[in-house]
Amino acid sequence: MKILAIGAHPDDVEFLCAGTLAKYARHGDEISIMVATNGNVGSPTLSREEIASIRHEEAQASADILGAKLIWIGIDDEFVFSTRETRMQFIEGIRQADPDVMFVHSPTDYHPDHRAAGQIAIDCRIPVTVPLIETLHTHMSQVPDVYMMDTVGGLSFEPERFVDVSDTFTIKSEMLSRHKSQAEWLKHIYGMEYVEFMSKLSQQRGQSIGVAHAEAFRRVLMYPVRNGRTTELP
Ligand SMILES: [Zn+2]
Repeated sequence: MKILAIGAHPDDVEFLCAGTLAKYARHGDEISIMVATNGNVGSPTLSREEIASIRHEEAQASADILGAKLIWIGIDDEFVFSTRETRMQFIEGIRQADPDVMFVHSPTDYHPDHRAAGQIAIDCRIPVTVPLIETLHTHMSQVPDVYMMDTVGGLSFEPERFVDVSDTFTIKSEMLSRHKSQAEWLKHIYGMEYVEFMSKLSQQRGQSIGVAHAEAFRRVLMYPVRNGRTTELP
């Protein structure tokens, strides 16, 4: 299968579903990670261009751990809006990955970029299959199955499916650790230990199903359904 996870910022996919992606990768599935923004405001000292360049390198280093393809859209951080241009960028990115299953932000998450990116991705589900909406990559033959990822902090999100990621948690931590500049930024602005914060959420979700670490999801229930059936999580 082909799997695509779409994050608003360079580290979001790692935080919310990298353990699940690592399980797919172990099964031999093809993984793509799409990042909507270039993360160009997350530094107390560097210029926008400098921090964007570092964040791109860190995202690539993280994707390389899984052997995943990185699709970098490059919208300015904090300014994701549902416009015609943005929707076309998402359609192009999704077609590039041609996913069977797509993971997107919950439209109830805390950050406006997360909410917008999640909603735009869901709204692109059908247009990616429409031939007359032309992009560099050709249209997909079917709509992808879509799952919403947990929210950061687990707030305003009622999990429906859990994936036990105890056996891939080390890979998830390694991937998130590649986002060194983000960890430094969060420490600077909120006094937060980033990898520890992620670990606490995955332990909390793990407790719900009696395992050490888990990631939580909700399926997006919408017409039409791919292949007339649900693609189950790993
Ligand atoms: Zn984010």
